[in-house]
Amino acid sequence: MQHEFSLDYAKHLDDKDALKQYRNKFYIPYVGDKEAIYFLGNSLGLQPKTAQDEVLNVMENWANFGVEGFFMGEDPWLNYHKTLSPILSDIVGALPHEIVTMNHLTVNLHLLMISFYRPTATRYKIICEAKAFPSDQYAFQSQVKLHGFNPADAIIEVHPKPGTHLITKDDILATIEAHKDSVALVLFSGVNYFTGQVFDIETITKAAHQAGAKAGFDLAHAAGNIALQLHQWNVDFACWCNYKYLNSGPGSIAGAYIHEKHLSDTNLQRLEGWWGNDEKNRFKMEPTFTPSPNAEAWQMSTAPMLLLATHKASLNIYKEVGFNNLVAKSQQLSSFMFYVLDTINTDGKYFKIITPTNPNERGCQVSIIVNADAKAVFDKLLPNGIFADWREPNVIRVAAVPMYNSFEDIYLFGITLHKLLAQ
Ligand SMILES: *Cc1c(COP(=O)(O)O)cnc(C)c1O
Repeated sequence: MQHEFSLDYAKHLDDKDALKQYRNKFYIPYVGDKEAIYFLGNSLGLQPKTAQDEVLNVMENWANFGVEGFFMGEDPWLNYHKTLSPILSDIVGALPHEIVTMNHLTVNLHLLMISFYRPTATRYKIICEAKAFPSDQYAFQSQVKLHGFNPADAIIEVHPKPGTHLITKDDILATIEAHKDSVALVLFSGVNYFTGQVFDIETITKAAHQAGAKAGFDLAHAAGNIALQLHQWNVDFACWCNYKYLNSGPGSIAGAYIHEKHLSDTNLQRLEGWWGNDEKNRFKMEPTFTPSPNAEAWQMSTAPMLLLATHKASLNIYKEVGFNNLVAKSQQLSSFMFYVLDTINTDGKYFKIITPTNPNERGCQVSIIVNADAKAVFDKLLPNGIFADWREPNVIRVAAVPMYNSFEDIYLFGITLHKLLAQ
């Protein structure tokens, strides 16, 4: 697409955008008396205007029915989550019974590793990306120690080549091959939180399986951002949070996926609780655990209805928009974002983009390293009405998300960033 760096052109793209009205379904924060440019849907997605009503519905049912709220009212709590799994399964490319909404991301990562990281004396290594999100690094280290291994020996990180920021597929595959007799689990993010690089989930999964290992993915920055086909790609397990691209609120309930082929495996290890017991006899209070015939077998505790309420408000908007339409708009937004950044960055004099330019290798996040005094430039963004974030040592991350960002947002960001850099 041949772009232009002008307000008229950006407004023209907005006029043609079939999804532009969805912005009105969200509260956009203000800076001063102006709507801000919110480029942090990759950190905390904005609040759907319907979220408060959904919370209120749960509160009213609690007031009106007490514990009978599980069975009474318009949306009985016992079945509340059942309308959510099909929407999520569309977003992550899974079958509805492969999805469970529960806990928080790091907790789910641990619970799934309990099931799928089953090291033996000879096959015990975890292969992952270097500089994975810290919570994931802590999870890997503590899991390895839980099984009596030494993280320095058992965790194999794949690094970018010296002087570069991205990890090549060849290096990932070569690392799996090099450890094929000792690797138990290959665990990558879907999209790296720092660089915005998308990993080739299908190819990594295939290589992991050929080496005799399981393949799991942390989709915190992938779910709701890029197109996924977890089931078809034969991914063993995955987990994600719903507060980033999926707009379900700070600390919202998280999601997990377990491939269908594992659901009937009676030898599988799992930490269990009564809410994972088959619904048919969950309330018989019997001493034996009969797992739900779906991913809900991993759910240990009573579903937190107040958290599910905001999640539901958000997912209903996804259902209305259609996830494929969002991905298509996302590609158009980021194409314009790259164009604007290139235009203001004459001869690369101000910054370097470390996110891949190839649309198949990135989602909507763009990470830039600013040459000048990066932190000083960053600190002026918010007073100028722009929400972006800072990652040590020198990276500014911005995400123009298709649900509520506009082409005009990107244009205005370009103008402001250029002004600050040229000062
Ligand atoms: C955001 C993020 C987390 C955060 O974990 P919580 O348990 O939700 O606090 C973990 N891992 C990755 C890769 C993330 O991007």
